[in-house]
Amino acid sequence: MDPREAALREEIVRVMLAMDSRGLNRGASGNVSARWGEAVLITPTGVPPADLDPSQIVRIGADGCWPADGPRPSSEWRMHEGILGGRPDVNAVVHCHSRHATILACAGREIPSMHYMVAIAGGSSIPLAPYATFGSSELADGVVETLAGRNAALMANHGQIALGPTLSRALAIAEEVEEQAAVYWGTLAIGGPKLLSAEEMTRVLELFRTYGQQAPGKT
Ligand SMILES: [Zn+2]
Repeated sequence: MDPREAALREEIVRVMLAMDSRGLNRGASGNVSARWGEAVLITPTGVPPADLDPSQIVRIGADGCWPADGPRPSSEWRMHEGILGGRPDVNAVVHCHSRHATILACAGREIPSMHYMVAIAGGSSIPLAPYATFGSSELADGVVETLAGRNAALMANHGQIALGPTLSRALAIAEEVEEQAAVYWGTLAIGGPKLLSAEEMTRVLELFRTYGQQAPGKT
């Protein structure tokens, strides 16, 4: 195996372990993918992070096929493939059921412009993708559409998804989405947030474009 592919597989396993240890995910529910040339490397279905080995990462070819004699890919492979296929700026996708993001997603709420870090998702809100059955093409299409020009979204009655040029960046965005979700959830308990103006969010988005490319942007 190409040593660069081996390294990418190891990094995918590390991201799954990090999601588990940072409380973004529990059990075998999260999934992670990365672009590998024309192919996609993705976590297998039903394997908890602690049991995951780099050899179990599935390579899905440009034809949408994977080796018949190995593990099956995550049930959400269509969603990962749809995002990576349509977004040349994205090389990594992280999906999880982090608690506060999922609470909001189950209540049918997007995250409005209540904190400047909401802009980490690439717009003045963190949008909510419509519900469809897990693993379905309908879910993949709805998520891809909602993510147009964005780096993250909540997924109705399901969880959240984050994208990035690298795996570490996608993980950092997923972590920040969970933090923003927790803060928004907290404000809803005390009368709701005071929103930032559209003008201010435009300014923040411009600053993120100029200065925030390398780091999650916490200042
Ligand atoms: Zn899921």
